[in-house]
Amino acid sequence: MTNLVTEVVETVDANPESPAIAYEGTELSYEAFWQRAGQFAQALENRGIGEGDRVGIYLPNLPQFVTAFYGTLRAGGIIVPMNPQYKSREISHMLGDSGAKAVVALADLVPNVLEVQDDTDVEQVVSVGADVDGATEFDDFLAEDTKAVVDRADDDVAVQPYTSGTTGTPKGVLLTHHNLAFTTRANAVIPPGGFQASDRLIGTLPLFHIYGMSVVMNGAMYSGGTYYPVPEWDATEVMNQLEDDEITIMFAVPAMFNDMINHPDAESYEFESLRFANSGGSSLPLEVLERFEDLWDVQLNEGYGLTETSPVTHANTNESRRKGSIGQPLEGVEAKIVDEDFEEVPRVAEGPIDEEEAAIHDITGELVIHGPNVMKEYYGLPEANEEAFTNEDGKRWFHTGDIGYWDEDDFFYVVDREKHMIVTGGYNVYPREVEELLFEHEDVADAAVVGVPDERRGETVKAFVVTTPDAEATPEDIKQYCLENLAEYKHPREVEFVQALPRTTTGKVQKFELRGEGENEQ
Ligand code: AMP
Repeated sequence: MTNLVTEVVETVDANPESPAIAYEGTELSYEAFWQRAGQFAQALENRGIGEGDRVGIYLPNLPQFVTAFYGTLRAGGIIVPMNPQYKSREISHMLGDSGAKAVVALADLVPNVLEVQDDTDVEQVVSVGADVDGATEFDDFLAEDTKAVVDRADDDVAVQPYTSGTTGTPKGVLLTHHNLAFTTRANAVIPPGGFQASDRLIGTLPLFHIYGMSVVMNGAMYSGGTYYPVPEWDATEVMNQLEDDEITIMFAVPAMFNDMINHPDAESYEFESLRFANSGGSSLPLEVLERFEDLWDVQLNEGYGLTETSPVTHANTNESRRKGSIGQPLEGVEAKIVDEDFEEVPRVAEGPIDEEEAAIHDITGELVIHGPNVMKEYYGLPEANEEAFTNEDGKRWFHTGDIGYWDEDDFFYVVDREKHMIVTGGYNVYPREVEELLFEHEDVADAAVVGVPDERRGETVKAFVVTTPDAEATPEDIKQYCLENLAEYKHPREVEFVQALPRTTTGKVQKFELRGEGENEQ
């Protein structure tokens, strides 16, 4: 049985004294952490919350997140993680839809829960960080006794995250114990020698999102390593911490790596303990990868995944990588690129290839996935489930909605999200290609490209650019630069300089915001 909880039980037995979580100079040993998780589980049971019940976690990355997460699983419950940036309107959907019975929230966020509580099934609100009226403080909530682990079957749901919601109403994704335990194991072998009990993993990726939860937190708890929760991204603080805490493993998103390479003192940092770095969540610009490796002499590997696939499906490794590729499928995961009739699209000999060429030879298609990491289903959404899967030869293939191609060595390349494609005057433009070019410009620190309505062309290409502090280029210069390096129809006819790009906490640019409120999105 591959169960998330039984995995941790093994870790605790093997490393009782090792630090499981380190935060603000305090370490919690595996034994102490597991004891608290058991007390949390017992506290749930004392209040009639148990097998199959939902518990919302509405916290930034803090030790209590880890305790509440594993405590809920120990009690046989299901976790509904919620972005601490969400307001009451957004959590109201998740709590209502999931039927959560308890919520663990940061003290400052408790009022958001109380505001919507009457419209939901929430009976218990637990506050972290301070006493708040209407909630029980976390340590007071914990029971004196610890609850024994409740057996869960492989196919039982462990976590119900909601998809990032950069478009449309967020959907609840049912991930089973087996889904998550599979990914944790398959991912933990990626660094050389795999995750070790001696590893120190930096937790900059938010835990409410599957990437930080499954890859970093579960990965640490599975291997006996130490997890360092970081509640809020701040490049300077994290870079200092990488040195001071001798961090060995960093999983992050391109926006974080981009902040690091653009740090004014980047060259004075030496991350001597860092032995593995991985980027995922959105495409890693080649410029960022190369600058990172030049500065710190650590290979930066790109991986790929989605909430619906728990998340990792593809990864590059230190031994096997192609720059610009999302890597090869993890062992046990099948992937292919298909056309609209679900026929396999031919592979190129060796990628990456020019996107112009890809378009001419028609070798792009949708990336589809089959494997033990693919979600059970969307919660209570038969139509969405119908659309998300294609059954073929007894296999259930999940449609990622990402457009890409593959090569003969089974490296995959993601060109863009299907829905981000811009159609301008009948031509297709994938923003990513233009963004890559913008990143190569020395005055560009960050960039995003979207389609905006245009009377003549239907849509036209628009670039939002954050310039470096001593940049001299004007928007017109940037436009000219693109025109010199791209087919005419792809160049941004509009270039706007902005202070920062609107991003989700997982580093994805909120393109709908750029499209709709481009003038005043700051
Ligand atoms: P989420 O469900 O929030 O994890 O978002 C999943 C989406 O992130 C995927 O469908 C991709 O569009 C995007 N994504 C993740 N990793 C990569 C990557 N390495 N390159 C390009 N897009 C990525």
